[in-house]
Amino acid sequence: MKWSNLYAPTLKEVPSDADIKSQELLVRAGFIRKAVAGVYSYLPLGLRVLQKITQIVREEMNNIGAQELLMPIMQPAEIWKTTGRWEDYGPEMVKFKDRNKREFTLGPTHEEMITTLVKGELKSYKQLPVTLYQINTKYRDEIRPRFGLLRGREFIMKDAYSFHTDEKSLDETYQNMYKAYSKICKRMDLEYFAVEADTGAIGGNNSHEFTILAKNGESNILYCDECGYAATDEKAEYMPDYPSSNESEKELELVETPNVKTVEELSKFLGIDKTKIVKTMVFVGRNGVFMTLIRGDLEINEAKLKAHFKDQTIRKAFPEEVVSALGVPIGYLGPVGSKVKIFADFSVKSMKNFVVGGMKEEYHYVNANVDRDFKVSEWIDMKRVVAGDRCPKCGAPLKMKKGIEVGQIFKLGTKYSEKLEAFYVDANGERKPFVMGCYGWGVSRTIAAVVEQYHDENGMIWPRSIAPFEIVVTVVNSSNADQMKVGNDIYEFLKDQGFDVLLDDREVSGGFKFKDADLIGIPLRITVGRKLKDGKVEMKLRNSKDVYNVNVEKSEIFEKAKEMLNDYKLK
Ligand code: ATP
Ligand code: MG
Repeated sequence: MKWSNLYAPTLKEVPSDADIKSQELLVRAGFIRKAVAGVYSYLPLGLRVLQKITQIVREEMNNIGAQELLMPIMQPAEIWKTTGRWEDYGPEMVKFKDRNKREFTLGPTHEEMITTLVKGELKSYKQLPVTLYQINTKYRDEIRPRFGLLRGREFIMKDAYSFHTDEKSLDETYQNMYKAYSKICKRMDLEYFAVEADTGAIGGNNSHEFTILAKNGESNILYCDECGYAATDEKAEYMPDYPSSNESEKELELVETPNVKTVEELSKFLGIDKTKIVKTMVFVGRNGVFMTLIRGDLEINEAKLKAHFKDQTIRKAFPEEVVSALGVPIGYLGPVGSKVKIFADFSVKSMKNFVVGGMKEEYHYVNANVDRDFKVSEWIDMKRVVAGDRCPKCGAPLKMKKGIEVGQIFKLGTKYSEKLEAFYVDANGERKPFVMGCYGWGVSRTIAAVVEQYHDENGMIWPRSIAPFEIVVTVVNSSNADQMKVGNDIYEFLKDQGFDVLLDDREVSGGFKFKDADLIGIPLRITVGRKLKDGKVEMKLRNSKDVYNVNVEKSEIFEKAKEMLNDYKLK
């Protein structure tokens, strides 16, 4: 490709709505353009990267025997109603009616669709296991579409689904997927973590996320250097070690606490540590309103509540719901005299004589004690694990890093096949529901995630395998006939050798060309400029300051390009 023909409109200014570096760079360099929040066009450079990522993902899926197909994006509501997800999936689902008032969704994921597709046609245990996948557009009306391609409302995903007779067979495919995902990360030269993850709205009982390290990432990963344990903060567990108290129980007392609502304010007002306060929160789920208790200095992890109660609809109660259920506003809630069920975190178990809300506006209780003053229905781990907490496996202190989730794999079991009545016939002639797995990879998100991991003050730095071009031949002065001829010859030659080459033949200054080459992050630059009169061109990698002067000899340039690109490592 010649740059003079390339459609890659660049911007000098940082786009005003870019909220993260990758979005700024991808927009400035003419890779993508926003249509509306969370919806983007891919311009030729962006599409080249997208296609290369797609190809890597496709090859690794094919390598483990998965077969590609393509399913409709428009899906009838009925199949989602059958599994209960028409309601459970929540407002992220894009729903609409056709002219006959029949309801549809633009698929946020395809478990219902694929299970319905194979139902009745994948019949015998002899045909199993089978893994099918597609690379297709997904729609999710995210609450906060942001960070460009990282959280879109329309985005491209590879989604695979596997069908098995039993857990053992599922486990094999799951392990193969795990290895394939690791290979995809390695082929893109990425620093990543494969971590234990929460299963969320997809369901099932086992899941891993593949997370690319990036300091602006939305995922928090807790990991242990000692034993290798790693999990997302939604899922992470820990080894509790709360000191037991030997205080004797004091008398419960209602004290006036005017205008004091938060743990922070309460600790100041009473002059006590936050660890002597129990924080009460009210949630709503499928079974109505319930109360949770946790030590004042700790945070609740909603994902753990959802997982524990197997209820994805659980959310914090709105202020008006709290008042109507308990007759007290948020800020003065407590377990003493509560009319709703109380679930408490393990951190509360060993506490004595603590402070809780008074269940009366402007009041708190001091010296509250479990069992004597209120009953706990169940003790559960609902704590958000943080760096410094002890590893659940070996007890060493956990560390935390930020990253971007690019893929997630799940063991689903029979959740979908049972509800959708998708059966096969086993060796004894019995009908059994398929045991299933599902495996997503965010193809378009990967573009931005890679830029987040690899960029500098001058622009993007692409891993070779997914760079829009591998080599740019920069002709410093396009009106110099010699430079143009040599540049063009090198370009044609390297292209014939199978490299992906861009020739910068534009009538702009050399400095401008260098800046653009750095901005779009092409791994190797071959500069045809002033040194040509000494029979030399310059060769330089995007991520290094070293410049090599190489003779204008096709074979020499070819060998050097091969060597430099082989040595080009980003990690
Ligand atoms: P997140 O927690 O980031 O919302 P998710 O757990 O909902 O992701 P999955 O349902 O597992 O995501 O989807 C598989 C993959 O699709 C994710 O790993 C991610 O790479 C990608 N993905 C999910 N939501 C989006 C989105 N809104 N924009 C771009 N890619 C997305
Ligand atoms: Mg999501």
